[in-house]
Amino acid sequence: VAVVLKSSQEIEKMRRAGRVVREVLELVRARVRPGATTYDLEKAAEARLNELGVKAAFKGYHGFPCVLCTSVNSEVVHGIPSPKRVLKEGDIVSVDCGVVMDGYYGDAAITVPVGAIDSKAEKLLKITEESLKAGIAAVRPGATLGDVGAAVQGVVEGGGFSVVRDFVGHGIGAAMHEDPQVPNFGEAGRGMKLRAGMVIAIEPMVNAGKPDVRVLKDGWTAVTDDGSMSAHFEQTVAVTDTGARILTE
Ligand code: MG
Ligand code: MG
Repeated sequence: VAVVLKSSQEIEKMRRAGRVVREVLELVRARVRPGATTYDLEKAAEARLNELGVKAAFKGYHGFPCVLCTSVNSEVVHGIPSPKRVLKEGDIVSVDCGVVMDGYYGDAAITVPVGAIDSKAEKLLKITEESLKAGIAAVRPGATLGDVGAAVQGVVEGGGFSVVRDFVGHGIGAAMHEDPQVPNFGEAGRGMKLRAGMVIAIEPMVNAGKPDVRVLKDGWTAVTDDGSMSAHFEQTVAVTDTGARILTE
């Protein structure tokens, strides 16, 4: 596993990319409402990226057609925005965005409620976001990837939900996906040690039911096998001398 450490200059470039990702996610969040389509979200994100002159990371990536991934309810990740996909009250929609600026990537995701959602869905969003925070809190030089995964998994399973195993977080830098893989599960003390200058995307995907997922015939959309709802939160995080710095805030 070849891990590329980043200089402070490179991390500043990633911070600039990360700020744009956050701006786009917040703009999209404000447009989520019953009656909106996932393609409305895509168009809003694309228009803002065009205004800023910033290149989307996902569009064209292995042929992915859009700047956002929009994954509704039992869709876990990699949903394709569509004018036919109308959001309705009680849905949840996961929105994932990546950009590349000056050769460096930022990648983050949020799950947004559509209008009023039921208490189980509300808990799913809360626990998933908390599990991401716990994973980030475990980041410091000398901690291991197992520490990060165990922190995420502990929060998720403590909340009565399950962690997806088939998709994981990743190193990120001059490529969107670099080594190492960053699982959202694991054993404390196991796995690669983190070092200052590493940058990783931590991205728990959490199912209300069982962890199993499958990919639909479109070749992209991953859904829960049992039809349960799924949430996804992601941040790009740099390992610093003292802990973690979130680059996508
Ligand atoms: Mg992402
Ligand atoms: Mg990612």
